[in-house]
Amino acid sequence: MEVREQYKVTDFLFENNCVVGVKGWDSNKKAFSIRAPLVIDAGGRNAFSLKKFSLKQEPAGKVKIALAAHWKGAKITDDYCYMHVSDPGYTGISSIGKDHANVVLVVNRESMNGEKPHKFYLDILMKNPLRRKILQDAECVESARGVESLAFSVKPLPCGGLLMVGDAMGFIDPFTGEGIYLSLRSSEIAVEVAEKALKENNFSRDFLKGYETRRKQEFDKKFLLSRILQKLIYNPFFCDRVVNRLNADRNLAETLVGVIGDMLPAETVVSFKFLFQLIGISPSIVDLVRKRA
Ligand SMILES: Cc1cc2nc3c(=O)[nH]c(=O)nc-3n(C[C@H](O)[C@H](O)[C@H](O)COP(=O)(O)OP(=O)(O)OC[C@H]3O[C@@H](n4cnc5c(N)ncnc54)[C@H](O)[C@@H]3O)c2cc1C
Repeated sequence: MEVREQYKVTDFLFENNCVVGVKGWDSNKKAFSIRAPLVIDAGGRNAFSLKKFSLKQEPAGKVKIALAAHWKGAKITDDYCYMHVSDPGYTGISSIGKDHANVVLVVNRESMNGEKPHKFYLDILMKNPLRRKILQDAECVESARGVESLAFSVKPLPCGGLLMVGDAMGFIDPFTGEGIYLSLRSSEIAVEVAEKALKENNFSRDFLKGYETRRKQEFDKKFLLSRILQKLIYNPFFCDRVVNRLNADRNLAETLVGVIGDMLPAETVVSFKFLFQLIGISPSIVDLVRKRA
């Protein structure tokens, strides 16, 4: 294996409507081109394939954005990530070592109302008393960096010879944890499909659809759970109920965190029974309703 750093892919090589390699610029701004039977695009949310084939689709409704910056001296314990859900969005605060913390704010874009991003970021952080307690004696050591249009899905690829992994395949929200694990796992699935394609010397779009099928089988339940949790989190009434339930029931909390953290399969919790438990409706009532139905 050969790793080439500081190379930028600026286009694909095509033959018979199939990608057969990439071209671009190397670290010395010298043009390069590499031929390959199969290209795997792991370029993240700004992956070249997304632009080339206009594959990105934003969800209908409000567009979420993230603003993030590093802080020095935040009052937090190293092994916890602090999540605060508080109008107009939520924050995640976690240690990145050496007295530094990463503080991420996720909000609907429209709540910014044309304000300057850094000022808006600081104002919203300090509006919440719990966050203020953590950050009031700390220093924000850089300007807030923005991630536009956090959530997006991706249309199917229009050609063969190409697979996409990780964030390039879409993203919902970091709160419900479909980040690094899914990137790594989708890469493993892509490699299995790539191995088969190489053995059978078949890189057609139809053959490579096997990757999408496998990915769906493995991730669809997790994505469904993420969407349900998003609805609960952004509704103050349900959010309070869920947090109270998780506080009172350690097993329930560990199961949910296990699934969000990709240590337990999503099947464990994607059921009406679990959902009702989460919002504090007794499982016996659920059984009763089911029997009557
Ligand atoms: C605010 C925020 C908070 C998050 N928090 C968490 C979290 O707590 N836990 C978690 O698991 N995940 C989290 N995530 C998600 C996580 O960061 C991503 O899911 C993960 O980084 C995706 O990995 P990736 O390899 O697919 O893409 P990336 O990490 O984006 O890597 C893509 C790479 O491809 C390179 N590239 C792109 N285009 C080209 C090109 N044309 N030529 C050459 N190179 C190119 C880029 O420079 C980059 O290095 C968070 C995301 C956001 C936005």
